Amino acid sequence: MLIDDVKEILITQEEITRRCKELGAQISSDYKDSCPVIIGLLKGSVPFMAELIKYIDIDCRLEFMDVSSYSGTESNGDVRIVKDIDCSIKDLDVLIVEDIVDTGKTLAKVKELLYSKDARSVKVCSLLDKPDRRIVDIEAEYVGFTIPNKFVIGFGLDFNQKYRNLPYVGVLKEECYK
Ligand code: 5GP
Repeated sequence: MLIDDVKEILITQEEITRRCKELGAQISSDYKDSCPVIIGLLKGSVPFMAELIKYIDIDCRLEFMDVSSYSGTESNGDVRIVKDIDCSIKDLDVLIVEDIVDTGKTLAKVKELLYSKDARSVKVCSLLDKPDRRIVDIEAEYVGFTIPNKFVIGFGLDFNQKYRNLPYVGVLKEECYK
């Protein structure tokens, strides 16, 4: 079973749901006069986006982008756009939904790209934030949980494409990636 590979559960399913309700209410209030384009970054944001949007009670559009920068437990620093959005975001408010902000390189690149498409505003909602690892000076406007410098898996986050389907965020046992 997948749980046998988990050393420690950091954030439970119930805690994630509770936080998504709070974030959804905040986002609904902040964007009440706008119809934001909510862009999920594949694949890690999918479970978080699915939970979060249940609690966003305003008109919005959903889009997805795929960017890649990681292999194994280390970022290779080179952010590649694998799938771009295929609609115009000119003069629209964009909210990027991300699984985790780590070095910040991915978000910096994605924000730059979205502003180059003439978005009116680009903000970020991330399930997790690992501020100790930041290299680029960038912050998410909405953060689910701030976590210590540990490699986490579950609720969208993978190790070599596995563990995304765990319904909580946990730390992988060392023997699983050695
Ligand atoms: P950044 O560009 O901020 O360094 O990295 C962002 C991406 O790296 C995230 O979207 C995620 O895919 C991956 N990442 C960063 N930290 C972790 C982690 O602790 N666990 C997993 N599974 N992925 C991570």
